[in-house]
Amino acid sequence: MSRSEYQLKTAAQIREMQPAGLATAAALAAVRAAITPGISTLELDAIAEKAIIELGGRSNFQLVPGYRHTICASINDEVVHGIPSKDRILSPGDIVSIDAGAELNGWNGDAAITVVLPGGDPAQQAIREKLAAVTERSLWQGIAALAKAAHLNEVGTAIEAFIEKQGNYGILEQYVGHGIGRNMHEDPPVYNYRVRGAGPKVKPGLVVAIEPMVTAGSANTVVRPDGWTVATVDGSAAAHVEHSIAVHEQGIWVLTAPDGGKAALSAFGITPVLPNI
Ligand code: MG
Repeated sequence: MSRSEYQLKTAAQIREMQPAGLATAAALAAVRAAITPGISTLELDAIAEKAIIELGGRSNFQLVPGYRHTICASINDEVVHGIPSKDRILSPGDIVSIDAGAELNGWNGDAAITVVLPGGDPAQQAIREKLAAVTERSLWQGIAALAKAAHLNEVGTAIEAFIEKQGNYGILEQYVGHGIGRNMHEDPPVYNYRVRGAGPKVKPGLVVAIEPMVTAGSANTVVRPDGWTVATVDGSAAAHVEHSIAVHEQGIWVLTAPDGGKAALSAFGITPVLPNI
């Protein structure tokens, strides 16, 4: 299969993917409710795993070779793939990105949130809160673009066009979104930034994870000696948000949002719907 092709999901299969998306959303909601200065990222990992198991799923991050945790927790200058640890205790003002995924009934969900903890240095807090908000809003720009796109690369164009209007931010290019389905990572790649070429056609049955990774400085990153953690070279703070989204005959549905994305997409005049079966 060429990189530009992908496996189409039927309407029934998209419906079958919804529980995995909701289990992923539940894990992140549980982490969001618990995250506070003084908690360790390993405690957050346990909270996410419990939420997934309660809904009958299992962590799909644990299925990634060499990885044994449910979440990635990336703090401050870490962008993605931070490893949970009992020794990583969160502090006031930390910007924390949590990435999680669930497998349920043989289907996968994948999503991420970024949270800024209260109580930091006011100037730094403002920078981090704006970074988190810009990144979150850029994701919804990308999702709204997907809803109307003829070709997949319109998603990254929309994300980058939005971000560049907000200030001096970097968008990671070494890491990208992806198709999702029976496997957490499938074709096609989904660029969170402008690329040459239109990319594959957006057709009913396309299910993708869009996941902008944005920094408050340079987009250059390094992998830390643990072999996983991706951090900014210049030490600037970073944010990462993600949703898994299905395209179908009647429109789109954000599988990892409990409301399918209705609230966030209303500003774009888009009403998400589940596919008819
Ligand atoms: Mg992903």
